[in-house]
Amino acid sequence: MTDCLFCKIAAKQIPSSIVYEDEELLAFKDIHPAAPVHLLVIPKVHVATLSECNETHGALLGKLLALAPKLAKEHGCEVTYDAGGKPAGGYKTLINSGPDGGQEVYHLHLHMIGGPRPWTGQR
Ligand code: 5GP
Repeated sequence: MTDCLFCKIAAKQIPSSIVYEDEELLAFKDIHPAAPVHLLVIPKVHVATLSECNETHGALLGKLLALAPKLAKEHGCEVTYDAGGKPAGGYKTLINSGPDGGQEVYHLHLHMIGGPRPWTGQR
């Protein structure tokens, strides 16, 4: 799609704070962060919405989701456990789909939202 904001970000036609890139994926900081850590992970290929995906997108969706724990470690919001097994840290992963799902940008993206609370996390 020629007029897609995130395609333009993936093509570096629009600047963004990129935190990860490989052949298939790009991750960058959300321009209006809802929390101390708010990253967006996108496929470089244009997929408008999760609602268009099926089993043929399984590998791509798997890679998209599997990037979250790596980014979480790099941005200090991975889940850790103390000696008693009590968890700390953590983050929210979220894909908004369509108007009723709160999607504003029609290029598939995974929100990775975390950091020390309190934060609203209302996306
Ligand atoms: P959605 O509501 O579609 O799930 O989320 C779109 C997200 O993209 C929002 O959190 C919004 O802040 C972010 N966003 C919109 N435009 C830009 C932009 O130009 N650059 C960056 N980095 N993020 C953007």
